[in-house]
Amino acid sequence: MEWADALAASLTGPQVVNDSKTPSGTVHVGSLRGPVILDVITRALRAHDLETTLLYGVDDMDPMDAQALLTPDAVESQMGRPLAHVPDQVGDGHASYARHHAQTFIDTFAGLGIHPDRYYWMSDIYASGAVDPYIRTALDRADRVREIYRRVANVQHPSDWHPVQVVCESCGKVGTTIVTEWDGERVRYACRADLVTWASGCGHEGWVSPFGGRAKLPWNLEWAAQWGLFGVTIEPSGKDLSTAGGSRDRSDAIAREVFDREPPLNVPYEFLNIGGRKMSTSKGRGAAAHEIVEVVPPEQLRLLFLRPRPNQAIEFDPAGTDAIPRLFDEFDRLAAATAGRPVKGELPGGFEAVFRYALLSAEADVAAEAAAFRPAFNHLALLVQIPSVDLTVAAAAEKGAPLDVREVGILSERAAAARAWLATYAPDSAIVRVRDELPAEVAELGEDQRLVLGAIALAAEAGGPASGDDWQQVIYDAAKAAALPSGRVFAAIYVALLGRPNGPRAGWLLASLEPDRVVARLRAAAGWSTGGAA
Ligand SMILES: [Zn+2]
Ligand SMILES: [Zn+2]
Repeated sequence: MEWADALAASLTGPQVVNDSKTPSGTVHVGSLRGPVILDVITRALRAHDLETTLLYGVDDMDPMDAQALLTPDAVESQMGRPLAHVPDQVGDGHASYARHHAQTFIDTFAGLGIHPDRYYWMSDIYASGAVDPYIRTALDRADRVREIYRRVANVQHPSDWHPVQVVCESCGKVGTTIVTEWDGERVRYACRADLVTWASGCGHEGWVSPFGGRAKLPWNLEWAAQWGLFGVTIEPSGKDLSTAGGSRDRSDAIAREVFDREPPLNVPYEFLNIGGRKMSTSKGRGAAAHEIVEVVPPEQLRLLFLRPRPNQAIEFDPAGTDAIPRLFDEFDRLAAATAGRPVKGELPGGFEAVFRYALLSAEADVAAEAAAFRPAFNHLALLVQIPSVDLTVAAAAEKGAPLDVREVGILSERAAAARAWLATYAPDSAIVRVRDELPAEVAELGEDQRLVLGAIALAAEAGGPASGDDWQQVIYDAAKAAALPSGRVFAAIYVALLGRPNGPRAGWLLASLEPDRVVARLRAAAGWSTGGAA
């Protein structure tokens, strides 16, 4: 995290941090990396007493170019129209396709502790006339714009190409129009059937004023216009935009040479990759940002994006893996290290800052947060599956003292996350399922283990243990009497019930089941009974 603090230390004067996004469809969790980086920069600047404004924009005048996201009957009419003018395909009350997808994404920000001072929608900004001076300058300097495309990006536009896209007065498409003349007040444009492969224009031609929302700037110019319009001083951008000759280079040159303004500082950042697996968004196991935030609590999700430096790619594959439990473990390790407790493994440079920036609130009491008791996620994910367990009692027992108010809050957040994880991304091995029949894996048990299972069955019949603690005592006593390591006894119990050698605290597991059923199963596993429903 030194990078954010170093950045802040190198700057003076008021700062405007900006990012914007084209709402072209469901937003993938990786798209949260930008907003989290933006938030960290903003927090670092403010911590250095720099007056800072955080802006987040929606580029909703961009043309609809993703056919797969439209209903079949909408493809012909909607492809190429501004996203702000395409109807909401979901039909849940948003004003447009753009509003639906952008709002669904933006709604995750507050929960992640990201609070832009202002959101802006480019459809509103164009309609307000605020972009008009930039449109006029771009048209007046069209030759310079063409020269920049040629020099920076090796893109050769025709000599009559002008850097503005009119919203066709006839068909409403913006992706299909080309402007070929500018008389100082109006532009001559044509809506062409074959200008782009993904949308078909209507053939309309005419002269129109490009102002007041009737036209938009091509993306590279629009980006540079945003910087001028909002006084942007810092704008991180993804590596896809930051390549040589790429979008950022073009917009930087346009800012300098067309709009006479230094571009903002770039903080290029790498992608988040979701494993090799293709993740479906339809089965409740998706990788959409708004789905991940329903499973991973904000501080762990912030950590996912914060721990690597911006220039490092992030590999994240939550489906059927322990990626989410590992996020919790890493969070807990950083908390422990920040609190001065010994931890295993190497710590990232500036780990205290990583922990601090991962916290939901910029005003959090870092020392208190670091010291708070947090139950291990994996353990909790097992406990929530056993009906008889009182989580607060179990956590207090683990802590060795009653939980305070904050710790009760953490416990309940984690328990909810564990349940959500089990219902969505968790691998089958994390699911505790007491088998209906004696598991075949029992054949792998040693004779010593069979005998001790039989002894536990006898003790249970004699003593009738009721609580998890009672059962736990019966198991320990039996292990001691048999002179076996308790781990070997617990493994035998798990195999007999779950068909695998590990599981939640055995006493709680046994106490959650019918006593007769437990005894019958242990006897069967010991090889003492034949037939019957074990
Ligand atoms: Zn909607
Ligand atoms: Zn048209």
